[in-house]
Amino acid sequence: MPKPDLVIASKNVHKVREIKEILAGLPLVVAGISEVADLPEIAEDGDTFEANAVKKALAAAKATGCMALADDSGLMVDYLGGEPGVLSARYAGSPRSDERNNAKLLAEMAGVPWEERDAHFHCVIAVAAPDGEVTTYRGVCSGKIGFEPRGANGFGYDPLFVVPELSQTFAELDPSVKNRISHRAKALAQLKEGLRQKFGGTAGAAY
Ligand code: IMP
Repeated sequence: MPKPDLVIASKNVHKVREIKEILAGLPLVVAGISEVADLPEIAEDGDTFEANAVKKALAAAKATGCMALADDSGLMVDYLGGEPGVLSARYAGSPRSDERNNAKLLAEMAGVPWEERDAHFHCVIAVAAPDGEVTTYRGVCSGKIGFEPRGANGFGYDPLFVVPELSQTFAELDPSVKNRISHRAKALAQLKEGLRQKFGGTAGAAY
């Protein structure tokens, strides 16, 4: 394929498809990293979502010579001082499992009253140019940690993350609703606006 304008540094086909759809109105040729280069897995060993997203975006920009985009996300719980944070995917150690992570989170929150169960999903997207210039965008979605898992949609901590205004967990919401209000949707909306200002194009339908 001809050299794309923007490479998405993710091997997750769902993520790549979602980002391509969102950026569809821009005058940019967008490709997933697997379509362009055989980039080895980058260790997510930073202390912050920014550090991880920037590291992945820079590695992909360097490997491909194209502008590259990477994201990092996770859940921060106030009562736990921001944990699980950057460790969200591997909170309960190995083997990695959403069920084990959720069980650990519920155990840590045992006996904590509703008023102290505030939590925030964060998503940081980094865009790196081949010359090393990096821009980051952050989306946050705030809610509460429920007292038990509810709902079957989504992934990760969705069954425990209650959106108080809707009285439903992310896992109970229709995916189209979650995808409008989520941390990822907010970060992607900012990204799209940032790219539109730089390269022109339409704002697009969904975001
Ligand atoms: P990553 O940014 O795709 O590596 O996601 C990191 C981890 O954060 C995931 O494995 C989940 O545990 C958690 N996470 C991130 N976004 C969501 C979400 O939208 N719902 C539930 N869990 C999430």
